[in-house]
Amino acid sequence: MPIPAYTVHCTGNERIAASVHELRFRRPADFNFAPGQFVLFSVPLSTDAADLQPRAYSIASAPEEADLRFVIKLKEGGRASTWVEQQLRQGADVQMQGPLGMFCFDTQWPGNALFLCTGAGIAPFRSMILHALQAGYPRRIDLVMGCPTQRHLFWQGELAALAQQYPQFHFHTILSEPEGEWQGMRGFVQDAVPTAVPDYRERSIYVCGNPFMTGVVKDLALSAWGIPKERFHMEGYI
Ligand SMILES: Cc1cc2nc3c(=O)[nH]c(=O)nc-3n(C[C@H](O)[C@H](O)[C@H](O)COP(=O)(O)OP(=O)(O)OC[C@H]3O[C@@H](n4cnc5c(N)ncnc54)[C@H](O)[C@@H]3O)c2cc1C
Repeated sequence: MPIPAYTVHCTGNERIAASVHELRFRRPADFNFAPGQFVLFSVPLSTDAADLQPRAYSIASAPEEADLRFVIKLKEGGRASTWVEQQLRQGADVQMQGPLGMFCFDTQWPGNALFLCTGAGIAPFRSMILHALQAGYPRRIDLVMGCPTQRHLFWQGELAALAQQYPQFHFHTILSEPEGEWQGMRGFVQDAVPTAVPDYRERSIYVCGNPFMTGVVKDLALSAWGIPKERFHMEGYI
């Protein structure tokens, strides 16, 4: 079956952190998705608008929200990165296909959940967690976001507010190279787990971000933490 295609209207393109843009699009009335899924944007070459290639981006908004929201980590010289940074403007119409993917939060599993991400890897988790909390998910969720420095952080206020609103949701940030004063945790995303997350060995674990990080965390979780394969879920941003 062909992947459904849409033309979506860009309502925002904003730099929200070092090398990170947030994109917003008006959601087509007939576009439905499960939290954790992604879409393919048709991305033009900067020097030839007719030369289009697909690039995958996780949907960061929850199905209940009016807009479609995305976060893009810019990669120097990359096709989509150049498009987002230099060409895509509010008001533009963009070709999109989807939804695609099976990376979803199993809210029926009876234990607590742990989400680990670096940078833009938080996108599908925002959608999954917001949706689950709004639907009355009763068990504990910990989300750990890892970034290099304070300049790479985004959505901190929003996620802290969500943790205030829903006592079962706990949000943690860890920096690998903090600058100046930083009272928070230091290290890589996996380093936060043993200190900040109770009963982490009993949880189902969701990991998203660059493939190097997801690989390291997978090895650690399946071996040292003793997480069975069926409780480990990951999406690598290849
Ligand atoms: C399921 C899935 C979901 C994803 N979701 C997200 C998401 O939510 N957010 C996100 O940010 N990413 C996401 N990604 C990754 C995303 O699809 C792209 O791979 C990423 O944005 C890079 O695309 P690009 O076109 O900018 O780079 P590409 O053009 O594909 O280049 C790839 C790499 O080659 C390098 N490169 C290319 N051309 C040059 C050049 N001329 N000189 C030097 N270096 C060069 C780039 O630096 C880059 O590192 C996802 C991937 C998958 C598979």
